[in-house]
Parts: sequence; C-alpha cells; structure tokens
Amino acid sequence: MKNTNIPYKIYLSEDELPKAWYNVRADMKNKPAPLLNPGTLQPMGFEDLRPVFCDDLIRQELDDDTPYFEIPAEIRSFYKMYRPSPLVRAYCLEEKLQTPAKIYYKFEGNNTSGSHKLNSAIAQAYYAKKQGLKGVTTETGAGQWGTALSMACAYLGLDCKVFMVKCSYEQKPFRREVMRTYGASVTPSPSDTTNVGRKILAEHPGTTGSLGCAISEAVEAATSVPGYRYVLGSVLNQVLLHQSVIGLEAKAALDKYGVKPDMIIGCAGGGSNLGGLISPFMGEKLRGEADYEFIAVEPASCPSFTRGKFAYDFCDTGMVCPLAKMYTLGSGFIPSANHAGGLRYHGMSPILSQLYHDGLMEARSVEQTAVFAAAEQFARCEGILPAPESSHAIRVAIDEALKCRETGEEKTILFGLTGTGYFDMVAYERFNDGTMTDHIPTDEELAPGFAGLPNVPEK
Ligand SMILES: *Cc1c(COP(=O)(O)O)cnc(C)c1O
Repeated sequence: MKNTNIPYKIYLSEDELPKAWYNVRADMKNKPAPLLNPGTLQPMGFEDLRPVFCDDLIRQELDDDTPYFEIPAEIRSFYKMYRPSPLVRAYCLEEKLQTPAKIYYKFEGNNTSGSHKLNSAIAQAYYAKKQGLKGVTTETGAGQWGTALSMACAYLGLDCKVFMVKCSYEQKPFRREVMRTYGASVTPSPSDTTNVGRKILAEHPGTTGSLGCAISEAVEAATSVPGYRYVLGSVLNQVLLHQSVIGLEAKAALDKYGVKPDMIIGCAGGGSNLGGLISPFMGEKLRGEADYEFIAVEPASCPSFTRGKFAYDFCDTGMVCPLAKMYTLGSGFIPSANHAGGLRYHGMSPILSQLYHDGLMEARSVEQTAVFAAAEQFARCEGILPAPESSHAIRVAIDEALKCRETGEEKTILFGLTGTGYFDMVAYERFNDGTMTDHIPTDEELAPGFAGLPNVPEK
C-alpha cells in the first residue's frame, strides 16, 4: 500500500542547494508592522538601527518587497558542510502508528550546534565580517544559539562574546564548553562587566538571571565598544529570511517526487524555524497557487499565539530593544519553573504574528509531558533523539496521523525536526522518573504580563 518509490531519506545534491533566500514578506498583502523606537514610538529606519545591528542585516530586516536575496558564495560553501539537510519519510513511525498518513520530516540536527540556528548564525557572522567588524555579541539561554554563533564566528575569525543566563551557565556546563571550544567568551549574566549587569546585581543580589537581562547586557557590550554589533537568533525578519533555506530545500525535495504536503507543522519559540520551513509554501498560498494547512505548536506553559495579545511589546525584559508588534504574553512573563521543554520566549516573530492574525495559519498548545511522550515514541522508532523543542511538532504530527487512522484519510504531513536533544537529558530524566509535571498558567497568572505592555496608540 505504501508508495515504496520514495526513499527513506531524500537528499538533494550540493548543486541543488538554494541559491537565494526567499522573503515571504514580498508576497504578504498585510506586511508585518515596523519596529518602533521605544522612546519616540516612531518607526525605526536604517540609521536608527545602525549602532546595534550590521548594515546588510538591517537592509534585510527592513525590506518588505524584495522576494529573493542571493546567498553569498561564502555562506553557500559553509552551508555545504552540513546542507542540504535530509528530508526523511517516517516509514517506521507510520508503521508504529498504523496510520494511512504519510509523514515527512526535515531534519536540522545534523551539525555540531545540533539545531537549525547555524543557518542564520553563519549569515549574521558573514555580514559582520564583511562590514570589517571585530566581533559580535549575543545572549543565550540554554545555549543552542550561542553554540551556533560561536561555530560561525570561529569559521570566519570573528570575536564572539556570549552572555549566558547564569542559571544555565551553572547548570548546563556542556554547551558552555562547546562554545568555549569554538573560541567564544562566555559570561554568566547578570555580570559585573556591564553597567546594566552591575545595576541588576546591586538591585537583586544572588539573581540567577534571565534572557531579558542577558539581552540588555549583550546590547550594551556591542554598543559600548567600537567594532562590535549585536546579533539575535530568532524573532527578527532577517532570521526568518535565512531560515527559508529549510523550506526551499524541503520543497525542492518533495517536488522531485511530486509530493505535495497537506499540512506543515513546526514548533514555535520565536518563530524562526517554522517561518523558514513554511515560507515557500506560504508564498504559494499567498499568491493563490496552492493551499496548505500550517500549524504552529507552542508549549501550554508559554502560549504566545494561543493566549497572547497582538500588540506592540518590548523584545526583551530590559526594555532596551525596539518595540515589535507581535503575539505576546508581555515582556515580564516568565514561564513556570517546572517548564523544561524550551520555547520559553514571551513574544513571536512579527511575520508569523501577522500571518496568524490574518487567518493564514493555525496554532496549538501542548503540555510538556505529552511532548516528551511523543519524543520517546519518535526516538524509539526513528532512531533520532529529538530536542524537546522539536518534539512539540512531533506531538502534533502524531496526533494528526492518529486522526487519519480514525478517518482513513491519507494526508501528507510535513514537520520540522529542528534538532537533537543530547544536552537535554536532565529533562528526559525527569520524564523517565515520572517527576515531570505540567503547568497551564491561569488567566490571573497571565494578567501581570499583559498589564506591562507598553501603551502604543493605534494608528
Ligand atoms: C531555538 C530552537 C527552537 C525554537 O526557536 P525558533 O526561532 O522558534 O525556531 C526550536 N528547536 C530547537 C532545536 C532550537 O534550538
């Protein structure tokens, strides 16, 4: 019954690696809202953003019209070390689920950083190098982004300063050491190396830090030393642009075999992998050439899409970054302490937020014990030990495949498998020991985050 003409893994050749990134904004009727200056509430232009970001990246960030950006040869040759990434037909999982659905996943964990983040890290480091900068600064939580960026900087000979949330720095020493192995300097945040860090330490002695605080330190470190700029691993338009390489490859591989997915599923933290995976398919939908169902999957404990507000908000807790219009829980929102499954960002990509607002994609939230159950089921039949973040997408792919078993529909499901979970074994341990719990915030628990939203008058 199964179409055995389709191999387990569809590889593209090096020559088939995309030559340009696709900018889905070019086909959107309602463009994502512009970034605003948090002081003046005016849209931020090229000159406003120059002290913080690299010039070429600002051009990409602000360009809502150019459909394709050529991928520079140097970035393509770096991509060739680990791309094109495999598109896998999940025959074993289909068998296990006894489903008539056809399941495919695009696997982005085949590089040392273990996730899709390297796709944008190399692009951002390249443009910093091209501008003649000495180095870049960034923040990292659990460390995936910091790892990817330090690999890219090592390759190009750029200095890389990573501010790592202090509790992760102490509790997750392995990724820290991978970063140092690639030559990055890793500072636990808050630190006494920046004004904002010293201020936070004085006000909250003994704090274990937060992503928002690490962002504020990284921005200060970039803007206070000549030759440095700040880079960010998700949320921004430029990051979705770079991640479109995932979707372009997936589409090229499926087109080779004449396969058209009915449904495309991805996990959503800041939205970069999902945005990249769906971009070329969404483009077809926006141009009226094809139709697909798109599903963003987020944790029930950090439900930006499903329970957030579509509003201007700060991108960081330190409130130093521009305001972005997005689905958000408020920059003061912190997921409950039992939350292990990643994807803990309070906001969401402005591009995906606009598409969701316009009814062009759906979102679902899932609880973490259900996510880890799906992760184990997947690991046991497909062989790959998935990242907890990726496993949100696995959960919904399995749920949809089980629905097909009930209805007999032979849907084709494509999902993004963003990375591997080898550095997340403490979370797996909690699941295996039966001590992992779920927490769904009450409306009362979400209220303070919403109350902290900045007051931006509607135009
Ligand atoms: C960072 C990360 C994510 C979430 O980030 P997005 O920007 O939403 O893609 C998902 N999976 C893995 C493995 C990650 O490292």
